[in-house]
Amino acid sequence: MSGEAFESREVRLARRPEGAPADATFAFARVRVGPPSDGEIVVRNTLMSVDPYMRGRMNAGRSYAKPYAIGEVMYGGAIGTVAASAAPEIPVGATVLHNSGWREYALLRARDARVIDTSKAGAEAFLGALGMPGMTAWVGLRVIAEVKKGESIFVSGAAGAVGSTVVQLAKHWGLSVVGSAGTPEKVRYLREELHADAAFNYHDGPVGELLAHAAPDGIDVFFDNVGGEHLEAALAATKDFARLVLCGAISVYNAVSAPPGPANIRLAIPRRLRIAGFIVTDHAAREPEFMDEMLPLIAGGAVKVRSTVVEGLESAPQALMSILRPDAHIGKMLVRL
Ligand code: NDP
Repeated sequence: MSGEAFESREVRLARRPEGAPADATFAFARVRVGPPSDGEIVVRNTLMSVDPYMRGRMNAGRSYAKPYAIGEVMYGGAIGTVAASAAPEIPVGATVLHNSGWREYALLRARDARVIDTSKAGAEAFLGALGMPGMTAWVGLRVIAEVKKGESIFVSGAAGAVGSTVVQLAKHWGLSVVGSAGTPEKVRYLREELHADAAFNYHDGPVGELLAHAAPDGIDVFFDNVGGEHLEAALAATKDFARLVLCGAISVYNAVSAPPGPANIRLAIPRRLRIAGFIVTDHAAREPEFMDEMLPLIAGGAVKVRSTVVEGLESAPQALMSILRPDAHIGKMLVRL
């Protein structure tokens, strides 16, 4: 064993939510962390990720990620500084990326942490466009949709962590991009800062009508983060042989009963549509390729990293609740500790 132990606070799942999570869903606890045993490190977390998949983990049933146990820390992506080390390969003071967030100090095996270099892209990027959300955007476009220059794409949830990266990569690769989001400020951000060809606020009318106006010639690709009405609208707007990439369905994550499916799903047959869901972790082997392509785009400014950062561990539950509903935040939701 090496180094000291540390007083830490952590956020645990107190009970499984029915519908939207509330304050009572979460519990704060004080624990002592460390000292590390051989091969372990203690990390002082400085930045942690708040992600929609965490809602799926709060349910007992099957989702693509293992459920949190009641009383378990709501672990997730985080970055921090090594405060104590019993692993020669990761010294005290190193900056690491790992999956033991939602706590101030984390004890973990050194092999479950990755030392990162924040000189070319900052720490926020490693949890956003250069991290899991960015890789989700890249996999969805490059591997699942196999997008081509000159095609037209519609992106729902376009001002979020995944969506904003999809918009920027698609523009960079020569597609014509339409995005939807839920506030006028997000629509302005999509048009003026990310250079989307068109963008609309889905609260301004039926999504089908807004999309038909924004993409009158139809779409080759739909990248869906939202589901529900957006999926039905996108189906209606498809050209023959369009691809629909089902990345997320955030509009129904808090639903207490099964929402109706798209009424026009039958269009998949005459239009020869390809509808494919995917999970980014299935494509982990392609991460080096993703990093090699993405890092220069971020370092050179072609892909901008945008985050909303809230302060303090106590802000984490509210931050999670806010991403699961239409909300003003833009880009990746993070908590700074
Ligand atoms: P963000 O937290 O960045 O974005 C969440 C946004 O979703 C909110 O800000 C809100 O924006 C929008 N939203 C919330 N509720 C609704 C609603 N009822 N109707 C319409 N929009 C809503 O999320 P991410 O970018 O990290 O994730 C986006 C999607 O991608 C999620 O569905 C997530 O589960 C999925 N995902 C899938 C992965 C995979 O491997 N398949 C991996 C990572 C993410 P607004 O105010 O504009 O409505």
